[in-house]
Amino acid sequence: MQISDSEFQARRSALLKQMQPDSIALIPAAQLVTRSRDTEFPFRQDSYFQYMCGFPEPDACLVLSNHGRYNQKLSVLFCLAKDPVAEVWQGRRIGPEQATDKFSIDLALPLDEMSGELIDLVDGHQHLYFATGHSQAADELVEQVMTSLRGAPKQTKQAPTSVVDIRVILDEMRLHKSPKEIQMMQKASAISVAAHSRAMRFSGKCAQANQPVLEAQLEAEIHHEFAMQGAKYPAYGTIVGGGDNACILHYTENNQVINSGDLVLIDAGCEWQGYAADITRTFPVNGVFSPEQKQLYQLVLDAQLASFNWIKPGNTLKQATDCAIQVITQGLIELGLLSGSLEDNIEEQTYRAFFMHGLGHWLGLDVHDVGQYKQGGQDRPLSSGMVLTIEPGIYVSPDADVAPKWQGMGIRIEDNLLVTDTGYVNLTECVPKTIAEIEGLMAVSSESHNG
Ligand code: CA
Repeated sequence: MQISDSEFQARRSALLKQMQPDSIALIPAAQLVTRSRDTEFPFRQDSYFQYMCGFPEPDACLVLSNHGRYNQKLSVLFCLAKDPVAEVWQGRRIGPEQATDKFSIDLALPLDEMSGELIDLVDGHQHLYFATGHSQAADELVEQVMTSLRGAPKQTKQAPTSVVDIRVILDEMRLHKSPKEIQMMQKASAISVAAHSRAMRFSGKCAQANQPVLEAQLEAEIHHEFAMQGAKYPAYGTIVGGGDNACILHYTENNQVINSGDLVLIDAGCEWQGYAADITRTFPVNGVFSPEQKQLYQLVLDAQLASFNWIKPGNTLKQATDCAIQVITQGLIELGLLSGSLEDNIEEQTYRAFFMHGLGHWLGLDVHDVGQYKQGGQDRPLSSGMVLTIEPGIYVSPDADVAPKWQGMGIRIEDNLLVTDTGYVNLTECVPKTIAEIEGLMAVSSESHNG
């Protein structure tokens, strides 16, 4: 299951058509990043480059032109040359000879010819489409090409008169997912759903056996399920926060023992063919919600379900956000964590002491995916093919100015919604979410453990 050649070609054609006439686009691949001394972090392809051609190696660069001299359509890929010795140490390379056929590119050239060839390729174009500031190495390459063209003897070369931000076009293209992309995201979701359920079951088993649960163990359960289902990497740093740690929004130390009686918040999703899932669940590590945990949890769940009703074409994420804020603020007043009227609390944004992040974000090749949230200063309407997270939360820090029984709880519930013609599909709804479902799953696991 992967994006087809014809889809990559259609994306490149769509970009070429949206560029001004006689323009050239440069889309660089990612580079390896040093982890320590002579070892690197696992390679992850740049999302824009991945989206435009799917070529899996570092350091490459895709060049696209709609100049008349190329019949409005030329694709050139620079990539590492075949090298038997280097490949023994660093891994297989596709090489320019095979890249043209395998990736339906007009012309593939070895990387070491790039800086010279680029000068000739860019020469004579009116506009250069490029993502300035996205990669320092690519910025330097473009600067070098432009300087060479501008410095060439008069009447021999012509540098583009403008550099245009290619992201304006690509971000819009990436925001609406194709049927094939949706399949990828469904797969990433399904694996991530299984991983969250697995972590809940593990916690239930430990509770039954009176064994402590470590944040690191839950992280391992999650990553084990990802790997066993063929998703090699998480789409972002997995968060497993027990008790107070759940109030640190980007907590990734994941190295503490979780006290029985505490909630644990897990925010994790795998990457499948570059596409991310992004799920959060919060559950009692011992398998049973306390009365206070139940009340705050149910409030977050109510806010999430209420905001789901706004997810359909024509509505905005802002409307869904306002809905969640209203439910949470009203609930916090009723439980005594806030005081005063609903209107005053919303006006003064007092809820931000407990719900301090946005309701959701676009999801795709990047976990916080590209795409404008506003158009012409207005909140943009949702439309079919967008995928976004909906993730309300309530976080009561240990030193919050509220009754002690509420302190030290962090709750977030996050699902991934695909906007359809008539509303939405929740891609991640199969992870237990209601209080009864969570307690049920964790208890069943305990019984099967004993039996
Ligand atoms: Ca998340």
